[in-house]
Amino acid sequence: MKYTHKNVEKISTKENLKLLVRSWRLEQKTIGFVPTMGALHEGHLSLVRQSKAENNLTVVSIFVNPLQFNNPSDLEKYPRSLEADLYMLENEGVDFVFSPSVSEFYDQPTSLSLEFGSVANRLEGEHRPGHFSGVGVVVARLFNLVCPTRGYFGSKDLQQVAVIKRLVQDLAFDLEVVRCPTYRESNGLAMSSRNRRLSEEGVALAANLSKALQIGLDESQKTNLAKAKALALNFLQKEKRIELEYLEWVNAETMEAVEDINDKTEIAFCIAAWVEGVRLIDNKIR
Ligand code: AMP
Repeated sequence: MKYTHKNVEKISTKENLKLLVRSWRLEQKTIGFVPTMGALHEGHLSLVRQSKAENNLTVVSIFVNPLQFNNPSDLEKYPRSLEADLYMLENEGVDFVFSPSVSEFYDQPTSLSLEFGSVANRLEGEHRPGHFSGVGVVVARLFNLVCPTRGYFGSKDLQQVAVIKRLVQDLAFDLEVVRCPTYRESNGLAMSSRNRRLSEEGVALAANLSKALQIGLDESQKTNLAKAKALALNFLQKEKRIELEYLEWVNAETMEAVEDINDKTEIAFCIAAWVEGVRLIDNKIR
């Protein structure tokens, strides 16, 4: 089915984006920016709504960034639905969508790689080598093109938020990083573009990830982090069709491992697991 989208302006080239950004800056508009890889769902739209509420203009980018995929088959299977995405964004009253082709966005091969140190070494950084370098390069490039006042990122990818904050601080980008809450299905499953690849049974199975996190969170209020993790692991091990990659308590800002509860730091319980051949991540903040 072909959708019509008249009111949202689709920008395909860096040059056109730059011209528009120049005029917005002259008019002193505040720009909210929501970078995405498309295949949009309510989680993405919640970021868009927050941006719209806080800025004069909202720009959404839709770009499946090859640099951040360490696994070629994951890149190939990543869902794409540009026409439907544009339709959803138009319904939200988004002003501009930047959706360049790969050859337009990376007109020269980039040789840049970024090293974020301890914030990116564990969890996703450990299991997806090169992932955060690719994220850093694309986000820095997008920030330079869009010149946003605020960038909106989901807690669903908590380590990514920590990495972007470091990027903004270290490269002195003049913008605010806004962390938005994780949007969930009614069964608790964190919304994700990758959920589209799950069967109905897989969706029900995948809800156990957020259940395990909640079991851990509840137990951590009563005993300690080690016992809470053991209880969550015990729950997950009953379901053989879930292949766990990691389940860790971390400091939500530094992403370093946490063993004791300290009321001063924000602690997150993070999980990555495979369900029906799809890699899913989630976390809950204590
Ligand atoms: P993606 O298209 O998966 O790269 O995600 C684009 C942005 O949307 C990232 O900042 C994600 O953290 C955020 N996001 C993805 N899923 C959710 C969700 N369920 N709730 C809130 N934000 C999300």
